Amino acid sequence: MSQVEVFIDAERIAARVAELGAQIRADYGDKTILCVGVLKGSILFMSDLIRAIPGDVRCGFLGVSSYEGTESTGIVRITHDLRQPIEDCHVLVVEDIVDTGLTLEFLLQTLSVRKPASIKVASLLDKSARRKVDVPVDYVGFPIEDRFVVGYGLDLDEQYRNLPYVGLFKGA
Ligand code: 5GP
Repeated sequence: MSQVEVFIDAERIAARVAELGAQIRADYGDKTILCVGVLKGSILFMSDLIRAIPGDVRCGFLGVSSYEGTESTGIVRITHDLRQPIEDCHVLVVEDIVDTGLTLEFLLQTLSVRKPASIKVASLLDKSARRKVDVPVDYVGFPIEDRFVVGYGLDLDEQYRNLPYVGLFKGA
């Protein structure tokens, strides 16, 4: 664990997630929100965020895979699809991090053809300096610089997802 240094601690995450939940509910009014968590990185953010949004919130999960080690392969594929139709639903895509934006672009294209009533994006982290495509991120937990982070759901080859904080990976 010494290869990882605390970057955003659990208290800061909890405070920001509470703010986001309140803001999201205020923006949607009394509408039902279908939160679509993107597996696996968003699991912790998703579970905290849905508890921070009062009112009617439903959940679905989509699995995508685009990374090997610390580098994007650029090829996005669905490893697990939603189990429910999203037509006429207010979909909130819940991501761990938006980096190049390629994963999110693919997801938004894939979901929008299913005719949701609306589609927005909440991402815990936003590495906007690395963006290759212009994608909307409606709710951002923390903008971050171009650093490789792990923890709070984010992994390196499946390790570190269980850290309660976002950490900087310092290398071996
Ligand atoms: P994008 O398609 O925007 O380049 O990448 C999005 C996905 O790449 C994220 O959902 C996440 O799984 C992974 N990713 C991007 N940056 C990082 C990072 O700094 N750390 C980890 N662990 N994963 C990242």
